[in-house]
Amino acid sequence: MSQKDQSLSLANPHPHNLSASQKLALAVTGIGLLLLFIAWFGGSAIQTTAFLWPSLILTAIGGVWYTLSTYRHLPEGIKNNGVFTASLTSRGALGWIAGIVLTGFYVCLYWYPHLLGFSGEGTANTGLVQMFDPLSQMLKGKAASQWFVYGTLYTLAILVMGFKFIWKYRHNRYQVLRTISVMFFQTAFAFLIPELLEGLNSDKAYFAKDIKNMWPLNYYFYEDWHLNNMLNGGSLGMFMLVSGILMTLVISPILTYFYGKRWYCSWVCGCGGLAETAGDPFRQLSDKSLRAWRIERILIYAILVLIVVVTALVLYTYFTGNAQIGPINTYSLRSMYGFWIGAAFSGVIGVGFYPIMGSRVWCRFGCPMAAILGIQQKFFSRFRITTNGAQCISCGNCSTYCEMGIDVRHYAQRGQDIVRASCVGCGICAAVCPRGVLKLENGPQESRKVFDLTDGGIKVNV
Ligand code: SF4
Ligand code: SF4
Repeated sequence: MSQKDQSLSLANPHPHNLSASQKLALAVTGIGLLLLFIAWFGGSAIQTTAFLWPSLILTAIGGVWYTLSTYRHLPEGIKNNGVFTASLTSRGALGWIAGIVLTGFYVCLYWYPHLLGFSGEGTANTGLVQMFDPLSQMLKGKAASQWFVYGTLYTLAILVMGFKFIWKYRHNRYQVLRTISVMFFQTAFAFLIPELLEGLNSDKAYFAKDIKNMWPLNYYFYEDWHLNNMLNGGSLGMFMLVSGILMTLVISPILTYFYGKRWYCSWVCGCGGLAETAGDPFRQLSDKSLRAWRIERILIYAILVLIVVVTALVLYTYFTGNAQIGPINTYSLRSMYGFWIGAAFSGVIGVGFYPIMGSRVWCRFGCPMAAILGIQQKFFSRFRITTNGAQCISCGNCSTYCEMGIDVRHYAQRGQDIVRASCVGCGICAAVCPRGVLKLENGPQESRKVFDLTDGGIKVNV
């Protein structure tokens, strides 16, 4: 039986048996990652350049090699075999181990950076952070921080796993283009350009210079220190201030009106970029229950209200100098938001729990930016997913692989357009549908096919 036949055979009880080529590729990736761990726990004894480049290059080569040897002989598109039996992708032992390692890394990153080897400004780094010093020196002329290490590994993950994603869905132009887009925005606008600009403006205090410089995703945009640093940051600082405000108030609403929230969540955002690439093996783990939908709506809008209130109070303090409003101290409030939402939820749970709760936990339950874009998408946008109900065979592929937990099949069976605030327009439901039922489209709002709840039927708004 050929490799192609094996992948499609329901009778094949071991779809995860690896070929020799796949095993070698995994071994190469493993050596690359092992070097990272040796550097991490090697203190200051390691030769940084002897570890850095071999580690990054071997990890990348192993990832690309594994992708080619896995998908080259298989038909394009989704592979259902083994998804719900493989330990890594079905909350088995490997899934839990991956979740614990990822969560542990994020805990160190946010709250215990010294455990990664970060020694603070002006003191020599050790361990993992020291390993990245040569690259940091090359890009911005100063030693690395834990955030530089994170940015590099994050970008590498999106590039390598993005390549894998493109190969898997190479028949689908939408998937190929949007994956190239997130790979580009992460590499250029979230990593290289901000790092180079920091090197060129080393006399200026920190202010965000990347594509996340948009409130409320960048929750500290209006905090006094950030506003002052932008105002004192010369023409670049002024550009970031004006462009950040314009992005929130003008550019984002216009783009969302024409294309839905997908323009940002699935084409630009780094959080979405990681979820769509490195998180792809876990997208089926999203909870599809009504209970999860209820929790989602309460949580995401509660966090949106919270950040609006926190920002209003922060601006009040900025303009009046008064940080105490009754029993509320605005500085304590903003640091609580930063700790619980900005770090614990978006970082530790948002990525650390990929192998347990799916790849879009933060985007679905927490991101206030997604909440705003979702409201616009639902009520003021031309975007919808159309369904050709007569063709649906109720296989459920679409619902299974919707990372936002939307029961797509429910809409498809009724021939109803999908107009959901949470839909990030990733297009995977359409890509995995064997019958071509679903299409991501833009059109006049009045032509959306939606349920008329008053008569319980399907109504075409024309
Ligand atoms: S409904 Fe489809 S396009 Fe929307 S998030 Fe789910 S899989 Fe992606
Ligand atoms: S819309 Fe497509 S993927 Fe979804 S249940 Fe129907 S046939 Fe299956």
